[in-house]
Amino acid sequence: MASYPELRLYIGGAWRKTAETIPVLNPADESVIGALPVAGRADLDDALEAADKGFRVWSRLSPRARGDIILRACAIMRERIDEIAHAITLEHGKPFRQAQAEVIRGCEFFEWDAAEGQRLYGRVVPSEAGIRYIVVRQPVGTVAAFSPWNFPMSQPARKIAGALASGCSIILKAAEETPAGAVHIARAFHDAGLPAGVFNLVFGRPAEISSYLIPKDQVRLVAFTGSTNVGRHLTEMAATAMTPVLMELGGHAPVIVCDDADAGRAGVLSAERKYRNAGQVCTSPTRFFVHESRFAAYTDAFVARAKATVTGDGFDPATEMGPVANDRRLTALQALVDDAVAKGARLLAGGHRIGNRGYFWAPTVLADVPYDARVMQEEPFGPLAVINPVRDLDEGIMRANDLPFGLAGYAFTHSAANVDRLVDQLEVGNLSINTLEASVAEVPFGGVKYSGYGREGGAEGLDHYTIIKNVSHRMA
Ligand code: NAD
Repeated sequence: MASYPELRLYIGGAWRKTAETIPVLNPADESVIGALPVAGRADLDDALEAADKGFRVWSRLSPRARGDIILRACAIMRERIDEIAHAITLEHGKPFRQAQAEVIRGCEFFEWDAAEGQRLYGRVVPSEAGIRYIVVRQPVGTVAAFSPWNFPMSQPARKIAGALASGCSIILKAAEETPAGAVHIARAFHDAGLPAGVFNLVFGRPAEISSYLIPKDQVRLVAFTGSTNVGRHLTEMAATAMTPVLMELGGHAPVIVCDDADAGRAGVLSAERKYRNAGQVCTSPTRFFVHESRFAAYTDAFVARAKATVTGDGFDPATEMGPVANDRRLTALQALVDDAVAKGARLLAGGHRIGNRGYFWAPTVLADVPYDARVMQEEPFGPLAVINPVRDLDEGIMRANDLPFGLAGYAFTHSAANVDRLVDQLEVGNLSINTLEASVAEVPFGGVKYSGYGREGGAEGLDHYTIIKNVSHRMA
């Protein structure tokens, strides 16, 4: 099996080492697997200059020519799927099969956007004789993007795909904990013949990089995926520079189980989704509001599936759930469980770290959790579910909407009337009924309220990466 890749910055089409590095750890055993380069100001200045030059070249190519290069890079990544997935499992810990699925998903984001880039239509507005009004969409310019560690390949893919398919250049700061996914994307684009400077990859100290890049004139869009607090901070910096932002932020997804649902099946499906990626997904279902007539059956099925979840090293084919990303998550999860139990919640599964080497946390279920417990407000971002009974759909919707987050929401029901109410009233960007799938490349993904704004994917996915220009043309 391939080894972990050499980690480098990628600036102006060339790989670059740095004097300073920080260790990258395998979260399954805490061993050091790589040395991450730390970009300094000179590197960032070079990236800005390269991105500026790259934009001038890339934005002038035809959308088809751009699409061809993106598709060539995808073909390379699909060929290298096992090598990339191996690196993802090493640095992130997720089961190897899920890492392979992530590579495919990342390629699908690229492939979808590459095609959408060829459909960035403008329009001709009806006018009097002698003048034409033409509306065109043009790439916004250089994008400064920041991607998190939970999906080392598909998170960077979302941002790079949107930028490149629209004709923008990009400087991406990928996550320090999981850099190899982005390094592999850069390798594939390099090998596919992407012009120098179109895609630049940096790593380092996140706050230093964002505060240096965001105020720069060359940066015309800030795209971030991560927590609401950091997103708000970056948005404030961007506002000072009058730079638009695309923000995919935290969630605390509700699941409403109605009185007509098949409680046993819904419980199993819910648990399987909850523990995918060790719960470290912004759309992860977390707050389960179950009609009181289905509560016992649903909770029993959920808890049984939680306890059966095989937790371990991602390279073991039997493993269903790997470790969490770092020791910060272990500390955060323990604090949330202790607080909820102290306030009267029932701990039905897990609630503790597994072993003392590697960041493993047992699949956890809390039930009858008081609404003043911290976990009812704070996104646990880990394998932790809370299940509470509700009297009816009204209470379920009220509880679901009670937080400032609004990313994904889910429901189990076969009633058209219930679905109609959920579509009208649930304050989320992504609503899934009888499925816990929240986003595929073909549909727009994004949040409302504190979960951010802007959309990635779907027909809307390139909107933020383009500007609209009106042309009034009087003929002689
Ligand atoms: P964090 O808020 O410290 O970091 C989240 C991400 O933002 C990381 O990738 C980090 O490198 C980056 N970041 C942090 N400060 C930054 C700055 N000043 N400028 C630019 N980037 C910065 O939290 P964490 O402990 O790494 O992760 C836990 C929290 O992050 C979770 O509670 C969750 O809400 C959020 N998160 C969300 C997603 C998502 O998909 N929306 C993914 C990962 C993490």
